[in-house]
Amino acid sequence: MKAKDRRLAELKRSIPEVLPEEALALQKQGALLLDVREADEVAGGSPKDALRMGRGFLELRIEEAVPELDRPLLVMCAGGVRSLFAAETLKQLGYQNVKSVAGGFNRWKNNGLPFDMPRVLDADARERYARHLLLPEVGEAGQLKLMASRVLLIGAGGLGSPSALYLAAAGVGTLGLVDHDVVDRSNLQRQILHTEARIDAPKVASAREALESLNPRVKIVGYETRLDSSNVEEIFSNYDVVVDGSDNLPTRYLINDACVKLGIPNIHAAVYRFEGQITVFWPGYEKRRGGCYRCMFPEPPPPESAPSCAEIGVLGVLPGVLGILQAVETIKVLLGLGDPLVGKMLYYDALQGAFNQFKLARNAECRVCGDNASFNGYDDYAQVCNSSSS
Ligand SMILES: [Zn+2]
Repeated sequence: MKAKDRRLAELKRSIPEVLPEEALALQKQGALLLDVREADEVAGGSPKDALRMGRGFLELRIEEAVPELDRPLLVMCAGGVRSLFAAETLKQLGYQNVKSVAGGFNRWKNNGLPFDMPRVLDADARERYARHLLLPEVGEAGQLKLMASRVLLIGAGGLGSPSALYLAAAGVGTLGLVDHDVVDRSNLQRQILHTEARIDAPKVASAREALESLNPRVKIVGYETRLDSSNVEEIFSNYDVVVDGSDNLPTRYLINDACVKLGIPNIHAAVYRFEGQITVFWPGYEKRRGGCYRCMFPEPPPPESAPSCAEIGVLGVLPGVLGILQAVETIKVLLGLGDPLVGKMLYYDALQGAFNQFKLARNAECRVCGDNASFNGYDDYAQVCNSSSS
């Protein structure tokens, strides 16, 4: 008898086994069914409500997932052998009531017992997003969530460039890009999606090329158009989050009003010379903790007092800092991580090297997000200047 067979015979004596039907009945009484097969096996189906934890991660993760050492555990693999070894490991970790499912998932499935087809990451995604998978706060479930998420970026310019690059790299499934402009040589000082070779190309096309070569798994949807009241809802309603990288007031108000009306979080940032600011407008979040852009500035200034259209200088790397912060807040919102910048404004002074955070109060009288607000249509404020993204 080989050593392996001797060991197996020992395990069969020491680990109680149950048939799949008994396992299902015990599961209904509160026992935990633990599927220890690898991800590619689980992709072909796994019992309903089973905890899926590959054999290789068992020692590392089981204590966090199942802190109660007296909870009955039913260990399952494909055929009932690996589950015996896994059960032995669990006993050594202190679990007192561990059984192995004889015949494993193959018998479970053949006997017609219920199972799900869980969505799991393929090998390419596991490799690409390995550093996310190592974070328990993201993990496989979080990565799958990102891959199913849809984020709309307004402007493929100074703010949109770093946001889009990092969101694509992070594996956000669908990135929409709205920009009606073409690439200009003077953009390249900060708009890092674009290149010298793509000057005069539409920014949307140039951005698509950059993002698809970074991560071909991300679907890029381009809108080579100017956002206005006639198209804003049609475009926005396809997305979970909107990232405002616009640099003009009419667009900013339009984005604000549409996001409030549709209940979409609006990741807002603005830059000026050596300074920038970022906040998340999401009036629906946590019992209306935060307000909207109109809570701060109820109406745009009249065109005659608006700043002139002469170009304002900006340190090229500054929108990089703020655009990356927008990508961070976007991922936090998508995954429900931490505390988003709702009701808070983060202000960055590059010359002082200082970040400051201010509270932003919601205005109960706000005509868009206030207590008695009702939607009265969009305002198409006159475009004073021609650019659409910083
Ligand atoms: Zn408001």
